[in-house]
Amino acid sequence: MPLTPEQAADLISEHTVRACEALNEFTFEVLQTRGGRIGSGMGGVIEALWGFHLNAVLRKAGIDEIEIAWIYGHEYNDFACVRRDAEWNPETREGELLRIEAKSMVAAAEEAKAHFDRLERELKGMELLAVFLWNWSPVQEGRATVYPRILDQFIGPVLPIAHLRDALHIQRGGLFVQPGACPDGCEENPCRHVGEPLNAKGNRERRTGPERARGQKVSHQANFGGLLRMFGSRGVNGRRILLQHLHENGTAAAFIEFMGRNFHRVGRQLPD
Ligand SMILES: [Zn+2]
Repeated sequence: MPLTPEQAADLISEHTVRACEALNEFTFEVLQTRGGRIGSGMGGVIEALWGFHLNAVLRKAGIDEIEIAWIYGHEYNDFACVRRDAEWNPETREGELLRIEAKSMVAAAEEAKAHFDRLERELKGMELLAVFLWNWSPVQEGRATVYPRILDQFIGPVLPIAHLRDALHIQRGGLFVQPGACPDGCEENPCRHVGEPLNAKGNRERRTGPERARGQKVSHQANFGGLLRMFGSRGVNGRRILLQHLHENGTAAAFIEFMGRNFHRVGRQLPD
């Protein structure tokens, strides 16, 4: 029996811990430096290295039916899980089992820049979100030489995370453009803006939102889907939503716990 997308997703999740360990062994060996820039693109390097190391780990484990392919062009997703013996066509997704969006966050930065802002309707089939929290770490206690090290990681299906994000967006007073109620007054119905998030002030959160919902100073707000900002909420109701998702969905719980143990702003909202 060929693997299902769900089985492939489980294999990828299971082997990601080992892939991150192997990645850390590699960066310790090769990427030692003094200084260590932030905002230098190292996050992108780490995301890519995860894909390569996951492939190596899968091969070593004797899993030869699937492999991780790096998607070219400007697709949202970074990787596709493809059948090794099949033709792969990224346009039609022939030969693919699922896609993976990889995000990195550097622990040293004040604000996590990583965003997951795709709308629920843009998510097709089984998709995984992988988040890597990394930092420049000393190669040895007291030494100034550092290397990029993954400190913690999350990987799981994106849909439950989109649901959590959307629920908290609404709780903060945000909304999603409804059919027939587009701020641009589009004639076609439903128009292409349906589902676009607007914040409590009515400003668009994504560049693709309605033109008339542009903020005054910026093209779009870009708070929606910020991996840290998405946890912002108003009053006790936000915490209630967080706890509800924590108890009702295993993937949402794993993501909330990942963010909670790494970011005090999230962790203080969680039960002990
Ligand atoms: Zn519209």
